[in-house]
Amino acid sequence: MAAKLKKCMMLCCTRNPVKEEMTKETCEEAIVALQKLLSACFYGSEKSELKAVAAAKVRQLTAELVGARQNVAVKSVSDPVERIRAGFDHFKKVKYQKDHALYSKLAVGQSPKFLVFACSDSRVCPSHILNFQPGEAFVVRNIANMVPPFDKTKYSGVGAAIEYAVLHLKVENVLVIGHSCCGGIKGLMSIPSDGTTKSDFIEDWVKICKSARVRVETEYKNLSLEEQCSQLEKEAVNVSLGNLLSYPFVREAVVKKTLLLKGAHYDFVKGSFELWDLDSTLSPSIAFRL
Ligand SMILES: [Zn+2]
Repeated sequence: MAAKLKKCMMLCCTRNPVKEEMTKETCEEAIVALQKLLSACFYGSEKSELKAVAAAKVRQLTAELVGARQNVAVKSVSDPVERIRAGFDHFKKVKYQKDHALYSKLAVGQSPKFLVFACSDSRVCPSHILNFQPGEAFVVRNIANMVPPFDKTKYSGVGAAIEYAVLHLKVENVLVIGHSCCGGIKGLMSIPSDGTTKSDFIEDWVKICKSARVRVETEYKNLSLEEQCSQLEKEAVNVSLGNLLSYPFVREAVVKKTLLLKGAHYDFVKGSFELWDLDSTLSPSIAFRL
């Protein structure tokens, strides 16, 4: 039986849905194989301790494959209404109905520890890359994950989100996540030096971090545009962290040490995540490689 389990685990690992798109047929095939193996766990002649461990592993793999099968079904839907329906159906069966304790708690209220700023880019959803569960992170997403300075009229939407998170939800951390290949950052780097703009909103918005561009152009003038953009993705995060301090209630919470400000950069090309504190000179950054 141990040999059968090893073979089946290899089948699942080599067809890992994360690494390779599974087809519905390969999912079905692997699920049937695992179910047969699970029966063998109960009726085999090997030691009961080993059987229990093997049975638990087989159950886990089966559950992962059932999830993968439903993922395949969701991804294959092209009609937008059907795609939304299939997506919610998947969420409800795989998550909502399986975690009654969590969703009952969330029905009463939320108490997230994080306020997260992330780019609107479809590749950088913080709930995916950091595995935030519902209720864990209050999220603001915008072009190039920028935090504008305190301004009651020009940036009231962002201000309202920060005010609610800090004063009412009492989050303990604000995390600003920049990312690789950011179109908004490239846009900031591409604004002509005379400051003329062609768009109605985008360039004016990304100018929030123009001081970061000046710094990159001065300190990294020998780098290519692409390399300068990579630097700017991180420098812009630092400008946003500084802008957070222009909100009186943020500054007060930071001084009282009830709120930490953290910067980060997610590189989806290299598969790495870098994290640093507001004052990076006092605490060096931590890098995670996936
Ligand atoms: Zn972006």
